[in-house]
Amino acid sequence: MFGTESLAVNAQGHLTLGGMDVPALAQKYGTPLMLMDEGWIRKTASAYHDAIRKHYGENADVSYASKAFSTGYMYKIMAETGLCADVVSGGELYTARAAGFPMNRVFLHGNNKTPDEIILALESGIGHFVSDNLTELALINALAAERGLTADIMLRVKPGVEAHTHDFVKTGQIDSKFGVAIETGEALDAIGEILKLSNLRYVGIHCHIGSQIFETAPFGEAARVMINFMAAIRDRYGVDTAELNLGGGFGVRYTEEDAPRTVEENVAMLCAAVKAELAARNLPAPRLLIEPGRSMVAPAGITVYTVGSVKTIPGIRTYVSIDGGMTDNPRYILYGSKYEFLLPEYAAEPRTQVVTIAGRNCESGDLLGEHVEIQPVKAGDLLCTLTTGAYNYSMASNYNRVPRPAVVMVRDGEDKVVVRRETYEDLIRNDIF
Ligand SMILES: *Cc1c(COP(=O)(O)O)cnc(C)c1O
Repeated sequence: MFGTESLAVNAQGHLTLGGMDVPALAQKYGTPLMLMDEGWIRKTASAYHDAIRKHYGENADVSYASKAFSTGYMYKIMAETGLCADVVSGGELYTARAAGFPMNRVFLHGNNKTPDEIILALESGIGHFVSDNLTELALINALAAERGLTADIMLRVKPGVEAHTHDFVKTGQIDSKFGVAIETGEALDAIGEILKLSNLRYVGIHCHIGSQIFETAPFGEAARVMINFMAAIRDRYGVDTAELNLGGGFGVRYTEEDAPRTVEENVAMLCAAVKAELAARNLPAPRLLIEPGRSMVAPAGITVYTVGSVKTIPGIRTYVSIDGGMTDNPRYILYGSKYEFLLPEYAAEPRTQVVTIAGRNCESGDLLGEHVEIQPVKAGDLLCTLTTGAYNYSMASNYNRVPRPAVVMVRDGEDKVVVRRETYEDLIRNDIF
């Protein structure tokens, strides 16, 4: 009914997430509230892990792109389900480490890693660095040398593949701030640099062509370009590439316009493309990595708000104001992202009213959706945004000194706070009066 098996309607006509009554959870924890179906996340993580090993073999891993939703408990789930984790900052690395995540399964990304972040990563013994550019390679080499260490390096390359998605989430094309381009020869030269620097070990190559992609062709094309590049590396330097990472980007359903494929279908498609390209060039099979972020968590999450005022401007539109907004979900103001909304206390009823959902922040653009369908709504109702598990909490801010919501996970009939609600004391903790 809602495009995800996490959501259903119970006998009282209430929305349920992972079998739990959403209005009851809102009553217990207050709003705004992020709810996530832990059972679904675990099932999806295992589905990714099983699918890549089934279609490619044992020398393959799934790395959760943790920027999608990064909290201590989430790293624990990923560790328990056998996944690796991508981190893009010292803060994410520190959180994974504090959660007891095995550091040899952590990979550090980022287009401008600071010396402190590189040192933290070296001293934590992470699996490998995904390095972005020549300046950074020299810096990692110098910091590793000072410590008598050798850093394992993947090179982030731009395969020059176009994916049809929002400009801000497109990353594989030549005009991108991420990585070095294959087509200019820069990437092949950078491999030579890795091989020259004595405290770096060349491990492999990495690309990530974008996010919220539904087509299969760009993934197949990326596999082709990357494996061609592996052959070019072998031809020029006589070395094999031990690891190939094709990034993330699988699309999820936000509204009925979106029709994602299953995890099994996506992974099977990618593995088939990789195997065919390797065979065509007679290359030994590298360890294959993929990095799903959004598709691991987005459909598992919803955000529950309480409606304040409902303001109808005759002949124009109706604004429904909620007790959250761009502070907990900046995706509409950033990308114009579309969502579905519903009233969890009347979830079985038809969505007959067309409204604009307005956040509580002091920006006219602070909306979550315009001209969206919802059940007839009045002040005091609960209101949910669906599919908010990815890039919502992790992008949340304290603009207007609004405390961030609590995050509650549900599984097997139990609910558990995994991030507590911020307090006003939290907000002033670093202020010096
Ligand atoms: C963001 C990102 C991902 C995850 O992308 P999704 O669209 O969330 O699956 C994977 N790899 C890299 C390098 C990224 O920057």
